Amino acid sequence: MPKNRLLNAFDCESRARVDPHLERINFMLGDVICEAGGVLDHAYFPDGAVLSLLTVLKNGMAIETANIGGRCVRPLCGMYSKTSFNRCLVQLRAACFVSRSKCWIGIRAQRAHSQSFVSYSETLLAQIQQTVACNALHTTQQKVCRWLLMMHDRADSEDLAFTHEFLAEVLGVNRKSVTLAAQVLQKAGLIDYRRGKMQVLDRPGLEKASCECYAIVKKRFDDFLKRLRMRFRKIRAAEIVEATAGSFTGHAAWHLIAQ
Ligand SMILES: [Zn+2]
Repeated sequence: MPKNRLLNAFDCESRARVDPHLERINFMLGDVICEAGGVLDHAYFPDGAVLSLLTVLKNGMAIETANIGGRCVRPLCGMYSKTSFNRCLVQLRAACFVSRSKCWIGIRAQRAHSQSFVSYSETLLAQIQQTVACNALHTTQQKVCRWLLMMHDRADSEDLAFTHEFLAEVLGVNRKSVTLAAQVLQKAGLIDYRRGKMQVLDRPGLEKASCECYAIVKKRFDDFLKRLRMRFRKIRAAEIVEATAGSFTGHAAWHLIAQ
């Protein structure tokens, strides 16, 4: 079963239509999926990988405005314009399911999927807005906690192979402030940091030390997934009612939905 929760939320029939058109590809840390302004022909469903969306400035500086991970959902796609606004690079090496372009047009054309992706875009926008507020108003220590919690959700291993330099870059802060924040968190017993690897030791403690941004974004994505599953169940139930009209009551169909 894929780790991508969006694919997992699709009903069996949708998966049967979509799966043959997806190819599983392994990506390495730092691989650039697409540059800002580049053309996106495919949809990416992270299956263990984490993709970072970076807003790039004229002077070459870049800051993360959202990231897309396997456990926490998320396809990446240029749904309508096909032009990527962000640079997208691989932050946690692993696999993605990548659509073949023609298949993506077909998936998008199906009403249920199209609605799902619009709803997903709204959820991603919420993450971006929360990240903008977090970057501007919260302390480096709070941002480090938020980011580590997100990576901890998405990584298969307890070890997070990120250097302070890398963290400073994606958070748009200086390296020294990241090192100071990491030292405070290590002293408090929340994380361990050795030879370029971070380890979360006390997850509840890290959640307490984080700003509210982590919990808000997580809840938003969890709610989106619940709505998505419900939508597919309703569509399936409606199809059953239609196909068996006269021999199957609406009440029975709604019983199916509740299961
Ligand atoms: Zn924050």
